[in-house]
Amino acid sequence: MSQKIVRVVLEAPIDKSFDYLYQPTKVDDAIPEVGQLVVVPFGRRTVVGLVVGTGDSSDVPVEKLKAVAYCFHEIPPFDKAWMDLCRFVASYYHRTLGEVAINVLPKMIRQNKQKSIQKALKVIDEPVKGSEQQSEEVPELNEDQRRAVEAITATEGFSTFLLYGVTGSGKTEVYLRAVADKLASSPDGQVLLMVPEINLTPQLEKRIRSRFPREHIVLQHSGLTESERLRDWLAIMTGRARIILGTRLSVMTPAPKLRMIVVDEEHDPSYKQQEGVRYSARDLAVWRANYLKIPIVLGSATPSLESWHHAKSGRYRELALPERARENAAHPEITLIDTSKDKLVDGLSQTLVDAIEKRIEKGEISLLFLNRRGFAPVITCNACGWMSTCHRCSAYMVFHKANRILRCHHCGLERRIPKVCPDCGNVDLQALGRGTQRIEENIRLRFPQARILRIDADSTSRKGSLQEALDAIYHGDVDIVIGTQMIAKGHDFQNLTLVGVLEPDAALFSHDFRAGERLFAQLMQVAGRAGRDAVRPGANPSQVLIQTRYPSHPLYQAMRTRRYDAYVSQLMDERHMAGFPPFGFQALLMAEAKDISKAMMFLQQAKVLLGRREGLTVSDAIPMTIMRVADIERAQLLIESASRPVLQAALTEWIPQLRNVKANVRWTIEVDPLSI
Ligand code: ADP
Ligand code: ZN
Ligand code: ZN
Repeated sequence: MSQKIVRVVLEAPIDKSFDYLYQPTKVDDAIPEVGQLVVVPFGRRTVVGLVVGTGDSSDVPVEKLKAVAYCFHEIPPFDKAWMDLCRFVASYYHRTLGEVAINVLPKMIRQNKQKSIQKALKVIDEPVKGSEQQSEEVPELNEDQRRAVEAITATEGFSTFLLYGVTGSGKTEVYLRAVADKLASSPDGQVLLMVPEINLTPQLEKRIRSRFPREHIVLQHSGLTESERLRDWLAIMTGRARIILGTRLSVMTPAPKLRMIVVDEEHDPSYKQQEGVRYSARDLAVWRANYLKIPIVLGSATPSLESWHHAKSGRYRELALPERARENAAHPEITLIDTSKDKLVDGLSQTLVDAIEKRIEKGEISLLFLNRRGFAPVITCNACGWMSTCHRCSAYMVFHKANRILRCHHCGLERRIPKVCPDCGNVDLQALGRGTQRIEENIRLRFPQARILRIDADSTSRKGSLQEALDAIYHGDVDIVIGTQMIAKGHDFQNLTLVGVLEPDAALFSHDFRAGERLFAQLMQVAGRAGRDAVRPGANPSQVLIQTRYPSHPLYQAMRTRRYDAYVSQLMDERHMAGFPPFGFQALLMAEAKDISKAMMFLQQAKVLLGRREGLTVSDAIPMTIMRVADIERAQLLIESASRPVLQAALTEWIPQLRNVKANVRWTIEVDPLSI
């Protein structure tokens, strides 16, 4: 009788594998291989596990072993490359192999939905019904693009390219050419194209589909239904899907024939997973390309300082696209409006109002960017100073005028607008500051004839509403668009000649050392929405107006002259002096408890356990900037080193010790945190 021992890891913070017996239920059932998914009993539950070994004996007496409940024979076992990726993630981010591997599976597999899996497998076996003709016009590459494409396609083996090109310089065109070349040269190969957010840029998917009408193209992002996610994931892992377009989670898809990776907007913070296994999808993409010996292209108008550093030190190959690709599409002029001179009325300077007027006259679109939604960030009582604090968070509740509520953007708590001050009964409550709703209201008063559209998380919460709003802009049915960072990304709007930036200054004074880098990227991105198409005769020149109190700040000066390199070199000096990334490496231990003192005590204990180590700097435990969220209080401990191996070695020793600390706190470790 062919009975085997199968070694399995499970989604649990226990860093070990468990032995199970495998007894074939049918004569033709094969023994599970390494990399196969199985269902096993664990405690009182049955859970999905990953086979990491097989054998004939176990340290546990055979009669004590439980049996494998089910083996997913219909799903091919994961290959070594994927298992090694999971092992790397587990060791680098200090989680268990089971946590990593099981966590990234589609939910329907984790939940053992065998019927759905069978159904999905049938669907992916059907031939792809692509359209026959290529509907998109393929532009002739300009000189810079041609050089970039040639460099990428000439590469055999691993190489990281940093494609540094302003918005509209034709980076996407370079990706598409490189993809086409890869697919042509490896008939069964797969390529992975990663983007920060797919829902915000539906255009890209359309563009890819029309460029590759006959290819099997799949998506991987969190907006898919569970059955779509499963179907496309299976298409990838069985090698059928050729082009994978996905967000950060797509970096963990088991693509057995992967030949190239593209990471668009590589600097974007949304590549960082912020819960569970907190990985950087950009970094993992580079690791994966290195492991597989394939090329990877990182594209950005404002590369992260990490990538910039690698490019300058020669580890990455820099490919520059300094000019806009479309004929006659010039860079918009960037002007700083000094709001200490050109005083704001209702958040708008006269210069900006005049500029909007000119656009309306010519039937052109203006875009106003304010990265704060709601009507006002706080309301206050003029008599006693009461403020609309959230009683569950250390934050203010935001005034949403449309539905007359206060809402906490941290915990989601809502309450009706009080008619009188809850503390003193005064009826004179005042809204402080401005969000997109308030700007919209002001704009409607100033331009009563204009067609005005607001785009933010509140206005687009209904499914399909974002697409409707974007379509309205594409069709030219709008005069003035007001929006948050949702409208900054990747959209190729026509006839948009003015971008106004409202209240960008807060980031200049942030405690977060990456705030400036992020602000620059965001402003460049939103500025890139202006003047993407050719200038029409008689039209206004495309223009970006930034309202600021600090026009002489180096960030704005660099914006004005479009000299990211100048700003970066200043940031690099600061980072170098402080030992911050990319010159140093960080990890953050975060603790959550009902009471901040408990969280702090745990971190202090943790610090003692870590002790003094050569080359390692451990800060004091501090409460987080927003200390309380939904009645949970949070604190953090920062660990730094100039050497990655020193940091990793310390974490590897330290984390198992932390698991043994008896304290009533939840803690997580984050390696390479994006904000501290
Ligand atoms: P990016 O990704 O850098 O923002 P895109 O690749 O989207 O830039 O290109 C911006 C616009 O310019 C697109 O409409 C694209 O079709 C067009 N474009 C790209 N390359 C060329 C080219 N060589 N000649 C003419 N138009 C081009
Ligand atoms: Zn009051
Ligand atoms: Zn709250």
